[in-house]
Amino acid sequence: MNASTGPAELPVAILGAGPVGLAAAAHCAARGLPFVVIEAGAAVGAHVRDWGHVRLFSPWRYDIDDAARRLLAPTGWTAPDPDALPTGAELADRYLAPLADALAAHGRIETGARVLAVTRAGMDKVKSARRAEAPFRVDVAHADGRRTRLAARAVVDATGTWSTPNPLGGAGVPALGEAEAAARIAYRIPDPLGRDRTHYAGARTLVVGAGHSAANAVLELAALAAETGAGAVAWAIRGARPIRAFGGGAGDELPARGALGARLRALVSQGRVRLETGFLAAALREDADGALLLSDEAGRTIGPFDRIVALTGQRPELGFLRELRVDVDPWLECARALAGDIDPNVHACGSVSPHGHAALAHPEPGFYVVGAKSYGRAPTFLMMTGYEQVRSVVAALAGAREEADRVELTLPKTGVCTTDLADGTDACCAPAPEGARGCCGGEQPATPVAAFVPSSTPAPATAGGCCGAAA
Ligand SMILES: Cc1cc2nc3c(=O)[nH]c(=O)nc-3n(C[C@H](O)[C@H](O)[C@H](O)COP(=O)(O)OP(=O)(O)OC[C@H]3O[C@@H](n4cnc5c(N)ncnc54)[C@H](O)[C@@H]3O)c2cc1C
Repeated sequence: MNASTGPAELPVAILGAGPVGLAAAAHCAARGLPFVVIEAGAAVGAHVRDWGHVRLFSPWRYDIDDAARRLLAPTGWTAPDPDALPTGAELADRYLAPLADALAAHGRIETGARVLAVTRAGMDKVKSARRAEAPFRVDVAHADGRRTRLAARAVVDATGTWSTPNPLGGAGVPALGEAEAAARIAYRIPDPLGRDRTHYAGARTLVVGAGHSAANAVLELAALAAETGAGAVAWAIRGARPIRAFGGGAGDELPARGALGARLRALVSQGRVRLETGFLAAALREDADGALLLSDEAGRTIGPFDRIVALTGQRPELGFLRELRVDVDPWLECARALAGDIDPNVHACGSVSPHGHAALAHPEPGFYVVGAKSYGRAPTFLMMTGYEQVRSVVAALAGAREEADRVELTLPKTGVCTTDLADGTDACCAPAPEGARGCCGGEQPATPVAAFVPSSTPAPATAGGCCGAAA
């Protein structure tokens, strides 16, 4: 930046070209704000391509941002069937790639460019004087070996959490022996019926984790075992019951999400998948034949296994933000204002209040974390939440305060309103301890959204939180 260039003339730096980062760029384009998108992958949508064989549970109607749709409309783009369910690869090919092409006329998208650090020009995080006036600096490592530094007026971090998976170890650190067994542990959703077939055919595989990713892995591995008549699938979860993975069945407003859980439930009840509950992985070792044995914190040992698929969630990468003033929830590492809504200790509903720039702001003016990363370690993020986030954030950056403040979000209901607490009780709809954050008994969002209410508990159209109680 030269001295005569004020930060207002600088581009907005958008970190990550996933669905939400590109939606942020589309909103910048619509408002005439210059932007640069910096994407680590070789192409846009690198994370969704990584699980490209998995079919989304939300149909196309929920997967396309409005500003992106308006940008794409005059390009001859054919909108997909709103009721069809794309795979991750289809989402990237049929939506994100054309969107990136359309955005090229309005700003820059750099792929093969990994953000290493974000700072404020000329100052570390301690210095306060004239901080808000200083432009941001984004240090980038390019795939061709170059290192560059970009000046930006604002930074929108949409880098997701997919590339920073949690370890197998239930305490949040690797289990003993986990590093040594790394060659036989996968931390991504396998494609056993496709590219990973030879890897898993005939294998005794353990899946660890209780979310939708684990559910997908269990179903596909079980399908391979059934098809080949060889191998076995076991599934270990921390809780007493796989409530989130089993889902709300017919009560889910995203039928594909409900069906996924229903198929999983059937596999377990038919004994085709062995379910280990209350299992907190602690140590991994080999038996005399070289197979893997996994022990939990209580000393219970399961196995032998040939392979382990660890899908224990993800965590946000906060290291490259070290010199910014970032304020996150102490345990979810999400935007602090969202924590009460999305804490999986309290409920599995996934409800979240409509929220925008104000809830996503940090003590560092002009810096926002959006998209899947805004949820930190919480597992229930949906793209449409991110689209509303960036609509509001970009409006705020453009000075359109009224539009930025008006946030609206109606999410499809899961039909689940329970939690798998450590003691195995379902307590979402029971009163939370005094002062605790919670969906019913704890802090309620100021403007609850009628989302994720159980189908048996009717809620008014604009109120409810998870239990439909708030008016
Ligand atoms: C198996 C699976 C199924 C899902 N199904 C659904 C569904 O049906 N409906 C739904 O709404 N959501 C679904 N989700 C959630 C979905 O991942 C998110 O809604 C969506 O991908 C979030 O978009 P995002 O842009 O915030 O982040 P991401 O898609 O994670 O994109 C982040 C981007 O940032 C890039 N990046 C990361 N680090 C850096 C760095 N340091 N520098 C530069 N670039 C970087 C990545 O390469 C990536 O392209 C699913 C998730 C999974 C894993």
